Amino acid sequence: MTLSNGVSYLAIPGPSVFPERVLRAMHRMSPNIYEGELPDMMPDLLRRLKDIARTKHHLAIYIANGHGVWEAAVANTLAPGDRVLVPANGSFAKDWAMIAERMGVSAEIMDFGKRSPIDLDRVTARLKADTDGNIKAVLAVHTDTSTGIRNDIAATRAAIDAASHPALLMADCMASLGCDRFEMDAWGVDVMVAGSQKGLMTPPGVGFVYFNDKADRVRDRMARVSYYWDWRTRVEPDFFYQYFAGTAPTQHLYGLREALLMIEEEGLEAVWRRHEILSRAIWAAFDHWGQNGPLEINMADPAFRSHSITSLRAGSNKATMLRQWCENRAGLTLGIGLGMVDSGREWHHFFRLGHMGHISAQMILGALATIEAGMKAVDMPHVPGGIEKAAEVIADNA
Ligand SMILES: *Cc1c(COP(=O)(O)O)cnc(C)c1O
Repeated sequence: MTLSNGVSYLAIPGPSVFPERVLRAMHRMSPNIYEGELPDMMPDLLRRLKDIARTKHHLAIYIANGHGVWEAAVANTLAPGDRVLVPANGSFAKDWAMIAERMGVSAEIMDFGKRSPIDLDRVTARLKADTDGNIKAVLAVHTDTSTGIRNDIAATRAAIDAASHPALLMADCMASLGCDRFEMDAWGVDVMVAGSQKGLMTPPGVGFVYFNDKADRVRDRMARVSYYWDWRTRVEPDFFYQYFAGTAPTQHLYGLREALLMIEEEGLEAVWRRHEILSRAIWAAFDHWGQNGPLEINMADPAFRSHSITSLRAGSNKATMLRQWCENRAGLTLGIGLGMVDSGREWHHFFRLGHMGHISAQMILGALATIEAGMKAVDMPHVPGGIEKAAEVIADNA
């Protein structure tokens, strides 16, 4: 028997659930791309996108996914032979390092494993030892979507400053923008990359590179930046098409405009607070279910847990069975474990719950109750009663 017909829930950490309002805004014929509504929407769109990142500086938009804007950020600031420092506690930091390496940059990964915050004293010490100034940037991932760890970006800036080092601070906020508090200017971030398909609740395909004047001066000293990745034309276009180095992603822009309007209507602080409360409900349930093990949230310390994705360790190969049961029997799609093991049977020990963007208390409570039903069905060890704990968090905070 399957009970999966009805409204399903794709609870993976991106693409996230897209609001009907966004989908309806996108469902239209292409408009005139030379004049009228489309070019005219750009000033407000850019203003709202900057508000969400809490920045007054520059923003280049690309027709690209996250990998594309990783590459764009590197292309504008780093030359072959440059060195970057990459403190890592998950696979996304390593992937960004790999992209930099493929562009001739030497990426020095400082690996803190999969379950620990970054030791920023070590970052400071490494930068102090870089007396020749070979390190041009620190690449930091805000929320690493594989481990569910949320790194402290403001403290990363403080760690760079403690070494009096001129390196740029480049942050990946792909999984956190529009979910977790992020304040680009106040936190001293020089470059930030994000995408449309997670907290911004819009289909994948549009990427963002935010940068300040310090980063732009670095761009000025580059011997060459390829036309498509160059952020300069995109922020100072003479013609509308130059915003995108070609045809605009027309339907995406309508969707994005609607999503940004929804965030503005709710209020950014309220959006962050909603994600925080829903996250605490999720943690309450899992911490209760797993109190006798082996199920556990990958990041033990709540201070370093993401508010948009939770990475789970089942402690047995039941994770895959649970995912399959939830999807096939109940209409809930959970995320696979990512980067937790290299290969082999242990792959089936991990799963993730995405809780980013267009999510409400009823969706999260429904997802958690479905997970509890699934754990019973596949015989995954847990202490019953997690739902009650989650409900208490919601009741106390709503
Ligand atoms: C999703 C994600 C990416 C990659 O985005 P793609 O659109 O899949 O290329 C990069 N970094 C983080 C932290 C992400 O969550």
